[in-house]
Amino acid sequence: MKKQHIDLVVIGSGPGGYAAAFYAADLGKQVLLVEKEDLGGVCLNRGCIPSKAFLHATHIKHTALEAKKMGLHFKKPTLDLDTLRAWKEGIVEKLSGGIASLAKNRDVKFIKGRAYFEESQLIRIETKKGQELYTFDKAILATGSRPAMPAAFDLGNPRIMSSTEALQVETIPETLLVIGAGYIGMELGMVYARLGSQITLVEALPSILAGADADLVSVLQKQVKSEFSEILLSHKVAKMKTKKSAIEVVLENAEGKKETRSFDKVLVCVGRSPNSETLGLENTKVKLDEKGFVMVDESMQSLDPAIYAIGDIVGGALLAHKASKEARIAVENSLNMNASAENLLIPAVVYTDPEIAWVGLTQQEAKEQGIKVKIAKFSWAASGRALAMNRTEGFTKLIVDPETEQILGVGIVGEHAGELIGEATAWVNMKASVSDIAQTIHAHPTLSESILEAAEVYFNHSSHVPVKKK
Ligand code: FAD
Repeated sequence: MKKQHIDLVVIGSGPGGYAAAFYAADLGKQVLLVEKEDLGGVCLNRGCIPSKAFLHATHIKHTALEAKKMGLHFKKPTLDLDTLRAWKEGIVEKLSGGIASLAKNRDVKFIKGRAYFEESQLIRIETKKGQELYTFDKAILATGSRPAMPAAFDLGNPRIMSSTEALQVETIPETLLVIGAGYIGMELGMVYARLGSQITLVEALPSILAGADADLVSVLQKQVKSEFSEILLSHKVAKMKTKKSAIEVVLENAEGKKETRSFDKVLVCVGRSPNSETLGLENTKVKLDEKGFVMVDESMQSLDPAIYAIGDIVGGALLAHKASKEARIAVENSLNMNASAENLLIPAVVYTDPEIAWVGLTQQEAKEQGIKVKIAKFSWAASGRALAMNRTEGFTKLIVDPETEQILGVGIVGEHAGELIGEATAWVNMKASVSDIAQTIHAHPTLSESILEAAEVYFNHSSHVPVKKK
């Protein structure tokens, strides 16, 4: 078979892969992008975007119901599932089509097919029409991850869903067991609760959203308690058995006490597995860690000098914006520019209602690592904008180095926390001090003022908070 040559091949078209392909083309390289499914990867097709579309739609329903407190009365909302699904699919199609035209605009060659490494610098691409062979100077592997499904949980069973099936929203189960209280379980649990399912959430750890500071989580937990039927922490699923009209689940608590429950459906959100097995990596010098993630150094280069890897496939925070940043680092290093992924500052957002967002050092990490910090917290109960929005449950906190007054981290819980974390990320990234924030005028009335107010709380002179008398 005839071999063709290309400067750079990028495998996988998620937020890592397409960002890498486009950037390399912008820097003058001839690029081939290979994708076996739809353009845009998990993020666009069955992750970030569809989940946020459903969160937004269900948020509107919830807000309409809450508006009676302001004297606004709506009829009970009804759900047209086909239209909701079609609306989500329209967004996905628009974005996926956008990636296709942006690739064309940059002369990035796109092949729809499955890539397989025959050698370190040779791939075979299986397409519907047959096979193609490409040699290349460098490759960037961006094949992402898929839902982890314990072998005991049979994915072929129509009553068991991963996030992928859940986002197809075929039906709204009357009762739904959500396994796993990470961000995907919490977001999708909230979507289904607001679409009308009775949710039971089960989590093996003693808290939801392990990794986020407990004070941020407790605000969300209060809301979730009012919307979910049950939250079972320190509980495990011991067994599942499908019956004709339900799925029977044996739940086990920390003391080993078992209880059998029935649900219409089960949603499994227990983590993600890397797509690294069927790529022929054994024909290269690439090495995987014990969980199957590709091992890379801070330049995103694998143990094979011709192959870089980025995004979910290399592990760490499995987030789209991490993948896109690593894409730029890998491209630059593949062109002998000097870029490093060491100490990347990666903001985290949980898009529940209220949202939780944080960046930099968390209070919990400071405690675990024995780092001395001073916390400045501003409650949104004192925010005019939050009051005007009837959303005062949130707060903003700054995690500050008391010696240098540098902002080490920021945590926010509340409506639009995910938007506010952008400003906070800039402060942490530029190693700003708490006085830099205090001296920066923020528009009034905005939720962003809560960042300014937290800085003023640090100096004990926020106009909207009682002063601490010495
Ligand atoms: P992916 O997006 O996984 O793309 C990899 C692509 O590679 C896939 O399209 C796959 O088909 C292709 N591929 C695999 N093998 C081959 C092969 N052999 N040949 C050709 N192509 C191949 N992250 C956020 O930052 N914010 C969020 O709000 C968010 N929400 C999420 C919600 C859900 C429900 C889920 C599941 C994930 C969410 N994520 C979110 C995570 C985010 O989707 C991932 O971190 C991101 O998609 C990773 O990007 P990637 O480029 O590494 O790979």
